[in-house]
Amino acid sequence: MTTVGILGGGQLARMLALSGAPLGLRFLVMDTAPDACAGQFVPMVVGDYRDETALAEFASRIDVATFDFENVPAESAQWLSERVPVFPNPRALGVAQDRLAEKSLFRELGIPVPDFADIATRAGLDGAVAKIGVPCILKTRRLGYDGKGQFRIKSAADVDAAWQSLGAQAQTVGLILEAFVPFERELSVVAVRGRDGEFRAWPLTENWHVDGVLSASLAPAKVDAALAQTALGYANKLADSLDYVGVFALELFCRDGQLLANELAPRVHNSGHWTIEGAETSQFENHLRAVLGLPLGDTRMIGHACMLNWVGEMPDAAPVLRESGGHWHDYGKSPRAGRKVGHATLRADSTDGLANVLQRLGKELAREAQIAPVVAQLEE
Ligand code: AMP
Repeated sequence: MTTVGILGGGQLARMLALSGAPLGLRFLVMDTAPDACAGQFVPMVVGDYRDETALAEFASRIDVATFDFENVPAESAQWLSERVPVFPNPRALGVAQDRLAEKSLFRELGIPVPDFADIATRAGLDGAVAKIGVPCILKTRRLGYDGKGQFRIKSAADVDAAWQSLGAQAQTVGLILEAFVPFERELSVVAVRGRDGEFRAWPLTENWHVDGVLSASLAPAKVDAALAQTALGYANKLADSLDYVGVFALELFCRDGQLLANELAPRVHNSGHWTIEGAETSQFENHLRAVLGLPLGDTRMIGHACMLNWVGEMPDAAPVLRESGGHWHDYGKSPRAGRKVGHATLRADSTDGLANVLQRLGKELAREAQIAPVVAQLEE
């Protein structure tokens, strides 16, 4: 009996455990919050990731460790990796935790990125804004997610406010300034690399964000084959360079038919949730297969899929459950503004069929605004 340990007990850990049950796996999650939603049916160790006693208990009960959360302290991942196999490896995790290290690696590998600069002081920010130009975005290097820890600088007059908002963090988590990309679309590659280096990717996904939080995903993205091939090539190169094992997402901006890399998420990813019902093998199952050194599953899609995130509170399930291609995921979390509490995946055999389902649901769920950009893309 193999027990997989997961650092972080949120919805990603929950969906990993659900997908691992048919493989005969057991799970143990570790989280700082006793009410972490994976803990509703997965045994849990509650403790701080820096607490060696809690980590030691976790390590003693598992065969292999992985993450549902990338901001686990690098030292904790390292400590754990000296006791049990940890995938992805702590170096890959470390690079993905730091926007500066991540963007520097992209550039080194020939993966295009928006112009960026490391910011340590107010004078440094002034210089970088002058060089990169406006609009631009000041971001924390570490611990930012879902658009948190970011300040948009629209004109030179905003620099004071940006520094006031984030300047104190220059000496703690660090800051990076990035050129603002007036992208036409946001895309992600969700891919998996096995212990033996085998690489597979699901079809490219198009994503829409609201207030920095993913709102909807459409797969396959409507892009030409050459662009999709380029994106997959970047992901493959990145995974090889980090000796990455497991599932990851590479988030990309597309502008004038060119791709620019935004970030690497070193874990199963929200833009890959559609793979549960929309692909031969889900991102969750393939992550487990990779981590355990099992053969990777086929990443082929079945038709067309749209994932809608439920943020803040769950809508009524019935309209989605009535659809033949409708699938409902309630993470069992209490409602809170800005919190991801669940998602639905709608699957159809054609783009027209998917557009029809989405239009119907948009009305029934009063979610027209969330659904509109996806339908517009499908109808283009
Ligand atoms: P991030 O946390 O870096 O993934 O940012 C969250 C969202 O903010 C992205 O998905 C984009 O919608 C937007 N964003 C972040 N960085 C940029 C940028 N350099 N240019 C334009 N939009 C951005």
